[in-house]
Amino acid sequence: MTFPKIGVVGGGQLARMMAPAAEALGVGFHVLSEAEGSPAAQVSSQVTVGDYHDYEALLAFARTVDVLTFDHEHVPTEHLEALQAAGVSVQPQPQALVHAQDKLVMRAKMDELGLPNPAWAPVSSTAELAAFGERAGFPLILKTPRGGYDGHGVRVIDSAAEAADWFAEAPGPLLAEEKVDFARELAVMVGRSPSGQTAVWPVVETYQRDGICKEAIAPAPGLPAELAERIAGDVLTVAGALGVTGVMAMELFETPQGYVVNELAMRPHNTGHWTQDGSVTSQFEQHLRAVLDLPLGDPTAKAPFTAMGNVLGAEHEDLYRAYLHVLAHDPQAKVHMYGKSVRPGRKLGHVNVSGADPVEVRARARHAADYIAGTDPDPHPRHGRSDGPARAAGASAAESSARAESTAQTGAGA
Ligand code: ADP
Repeated sequence: MTFPKIGVVGGGQLARMMAPAAEALGVGFHVLSEAEGSPAAQVSSQVTVGDYHDYEALLAFARTVDVLTFDHEHVPTEHLEALQAAGVSVQPQPQALVHAQDKLVMRAKMDELGLPNPAWAPVSSTAELAAFGERAGFPLILKTPRGGYDGHGVRVIDSAAEAADWFAEAPGPLLAEEKVDFARELAVMVGRSPSGQTAVWPVVETYQRDGICKEAIAPAPGLPAELAERIAGDVLTVAGALGVTGVMAMELFETPQGYVVNELAMRPHNTGHWTQDGSVTSQFEQHLRAVLDLPLGDPTAKAPFTAMGNVLGAEHEDLYRAYLHVLAHDPQAKVHMYGKSVRPGRKLGHVNVSGADPVEVRARARHAADYIAGTDPDPHPRHGRSDGPARAAGASAAESSARAESTAQTGAGA
């Protein structure tokens, strides 16, 4: 027997961060990248440049690897089914992946499984939307079932007439949802192998801005144990019922009754980046183990809390000086950059910080990420702890930061 080769469709940051996991596991790692110089192409020795919309390009690539998996969910479902029929090991299988590709399919499945959905309906006209609005109330949320990401394809609608332009363009029905009055957003990730082995990470709290994930913290502070257990059980139900292989994220809204499902992603996910530094097994390693049907790794957290802050592009084009400062200022922060050029709102990297105090680790991760992006100009913030106001109670945090800086200086001099 020989070590298998994995093929990843898509050259983004998720494929990029799978590469070190493949290297450590000793499995072959090939990328089908839409362009030369993509984040994943920069770090992979085996790169094919090709278009994932082109079935022949996908098939030719798939013939060079043992298992085909994905950095994104945009490969047409019919191509995936044709690849499967041609004998390619497509993981996750298209029958599972369609629930992450199509939000209408996902909503129907959640109802079938008895999982908590918001009120929803497929709507094909402003008249149907108005009828749904009568029941669910305005404002409501209107979504394109396919192709949305980072809030693109999600609109808050105050009256049915507002959506006329979307109906004019839409190739099929849109998804109308009740606007959930949630306390906060949560997410849970699971790994599942074709043999049916599963592993669930702790539930995280996520912070979105303009539809983009900005921060996450694991575990979600103050989440009642009973709700955390229910969510872990439910994500296992979904993964088993859908036959998920690889890792899956289930995004949730916490509500007074518990939670409702927002959406599914079947690949490593932004809300799981904390696992790179905060869990025994990262989501990237777990994804590879799962799609290859290897035994799964332990998802246990290594620290009481790990926070992740996204570096989101802003005005500053040259991030290097700020990045140097962050490395020096907080030597415990783990900085991950994606090798991308700066564009406003673009995900350029992220920072993970672990520790005992959720308020402090969150503040440190957010500051490091925002400082690199150029959106937080304060080079020496005092990170508050949860037992005091953020800016005032800095003594112990400042001390530990000073300790950290002197450790780094010692390290650099050695
Ligand atoms: P995307 O596919 O772009 O990630 P989502 O379906 O996750 O889109 O929606 C993006 C954001 O919009 C969510 O994180 C949430 O903040 C908000 N949102 C989506 N659906 C609802 C809803 N039914 N009620 C309230 N807010 C919602």
